[in-house]
Amino acid sequence: MNKNEKRTKNSYLFVNKTDSCLLGINIRNPIINVKHQELNRTGENLYESVCPVCKAGILLIKQNRSSLRFSRHDSCILCGQRVYYTDLEYLEEPSEEKYPHN
Ligand SMILES: [Zn+2]
Repeated sequence: MNKNEKRTKNSYLFVNKTDSCLLGINIRNPIINVKHQELNRTGENLYESVCPVCKAGILLIKQNRSSLRFSRHDSCILCGQRVYYTDLEYLEEPSEEKYPHN
């Protein structure tokens, strides 16, 4: 097993010299529709996805703390590409844990 094949979460959080040239380059691009379910994750965390455009930045899905609904709009923290999630319903399905019966 090759250790180098597994990118760690931290490798996305720190912009290295190669990635810094990507900073903000797609910020003026039109918003693209993406399916959250089809994005690659940075790790086990469902809420951190690899940017499908620059493949180096992260999309950090935002959740409203009171309504628990996720924001459809997101943007890459590196290249600035804006995305619109078309399939977030699957994250918002009520579960027994979130809404316990009394
Ligand atoms: Zn990006």
